[in-house]
Amino acid sequence: MTQLVEDQGVTIWLTGLSGAGKSTIANALVEELQERGRKVELLDGDIVRTNLSKGLGFSKEDRDTNIRRIGFVSNLLTRNGVASIVAAISPYRDVRDEVRAHIGSFVEVYVQCPLDELVRRDVKGLYEKALRGEIENFTGVSDPYEAPVNPEVVVDTESETVEESVEKVLSALEELGYLNTVKERVA
Ligand code: ADP
Repeated sequence: MTQLVEDQGVTIWLTGLSGAGKSTIANALVEELQERGRKVELLDGDIVRTNLSKGLGFSKEDRDTNIRRIGFVSNLLTRNGVASIVAAISPYRDVRDEVRAHIGSFVEVYVQCPLDELVRRDVKGLYEKALRGEIENFTGVSDPYEAPVNPEVVVDTESETVEESVEKVLSALEELGYLNTVKERVA
């Protein structure tokens, strides 16, 4: 039996530094995909850390555990036809790739933004503290971030608008066969 595109689950995994724009893009994607009739869930790193991963810290081991838990849930959703959007720093390449292999239908979105722009934005006031040495293990300042080697999508939130970044993700989903084009939907 051939599966309809609209029933094809997929994990859309946004990775990047704090403040790069993962949550902003993820929330806009939720709306767009819902409008296109898709079942959608959002696993946002900040929210996951207050429940599913409550008590975990920021050592490599704890970060890896957090990502594996998110990957576990995202796999359950994906295999049931949901467009599962993950917004998590997920700094380590090996665990992202492990989760990708486990899930299969996986679209990695590298949400890129130069550090000086992140410091300028400082959405949560964390960079100033991290640069003063007041936060240990702060990704991009006092902890590593391993950029994806072959992500399906790269967005640059310094030079793009939110709409442009969202459009790039939607186009990739269409090209990869995870989303009907608007034309196909109307036809
Ligand atoms: P993260 O989830 O990666 O920590 P947030 O989404 O919470 O980041 O914050 C990103 C900030 O950058 C927001 O204030 C958002 O308005 C701004 N921003 C500017 N341009 C973009 C863009 N192209 N995509 C996403 N966010 C952007």
